[in-house]
Amino acid sequence: SFGRFKKLGFRKMILQVRKRPLNKKEFAKKEEDIIAIEPHSNALTVHETKLQRHNFFYAVLNEDVSNDEVYFEKVEPIVPLIFNRTKATCFAYGQTGSGKTYTMQPLPLKASQDILRLTLDTYRNQGFQLFVSFFKIYGGKLFDLLMTESKKLCMREDGKQQVCIVGLQEYRVSNVEMVREFIEKGNSTRSTGTTGADEESSRSHAVLQLCKLSFIDLAGSEHSADTTDSYKHTSGDFVVMEGAEINKSFLALKEGIRAPDSNQGHIPFRGSKLTEVLRDSFVGDSCAVMISCISPSSGSCEQTLNTLRYADRVK
Ligand code: ADP
Ligand code: MG
Repeated sequence: SFGRFKKLGFRKMILQVRKRPLNKKEFAKKEEDIIAIEPHSNALTVHETKLQRHNFFYAVLNEDVSNDEVYFEKVEPIVPLIFNRTKATCFAYGQTGSGKTYTMQPLPLKASQDILRLTLDTYRNQGFQLFVSFFKIYGGKLFDLLMTESKKLCMREDGKQQVCIVGLQEYRVSNVEMVREFIEKGNSTRSTGTTGADEESSRSHAVLQLCKLSFIDLAGSEHSADTTDSYKHTSGDFVVMEGAEINKSFLALKEGIRAPDSNQGHIPFRGSKLTEVLRDSFVGDSCAVMISCISPSSGSCEQTLNTLRYADRVK
């Protein structure tokens, strides 16, 4: 697997764009599929109007690509890194409804299956144990998703200058079924909020960790475009502050991903809670996979272009 990873080209950042199929609702509204993909040349075209088109070039996954293929192509190769004490992170980015959760949900299950298998064979002598934790970042605050009472957590540096989250519960798991139960529990906690459940979960980043491997279902990217958008939903100050925090987290994420290459020295981890928590994942030999999810529909054109431009800036 390590060999295959090298063949993919070891990079700090692996960027992947994934298009979902047009759904029934969009079809009923007579929305059209405006995304054309040429998988072999990695070209993607957004047909904004008949005359106006935008071309992009990335690794692209068409709507017929299954979750299994996403795992096999993009995630399986980075799994063995954790036995080498290397941090690896997989992000899903995109507007609400673009397929982030659909993409992310099965990944930790498949990854834990592989990790448990490797623990028993290839890395048998390392005494490796698999731990799972699951938390969300909402309005710049951390909450444990595996605690029944959603408990606020805080962050500090340990003696080795590594970021740690005080009070975050880590559960030892010995089979995939246990992982599945923790994921289901965390997901149900994530979607029970004080405001509209969907609304709130689209404004939080959910972070599932398998030891040094993190899976991050990011907040809906539409919340970052501009903070005045928040006024449309709720008038509370907290919601406005949240939009600003989401905006900051995407800016800092982009900077954090780019900084190691740009020789600027200063890496703006403190720009947001998300990047503060992930700080150790941006340094050293660490590796990240970012899956940018897009909707094919004409009604999402503007958000899709925003997502693709963001992808251009991190690739
Ligand atoms: P998000 O988490 O970005 O808000 P979801 O993952 O919830 O979006 O996806 C929105 C809807 O689209 C869901 O009903 C999901 O099942 C469906 N969907 C998303 N991606 C795909 C895909 N690649 N193939 C089929 N259905 C998909
Ligand atoms: Mg979601």
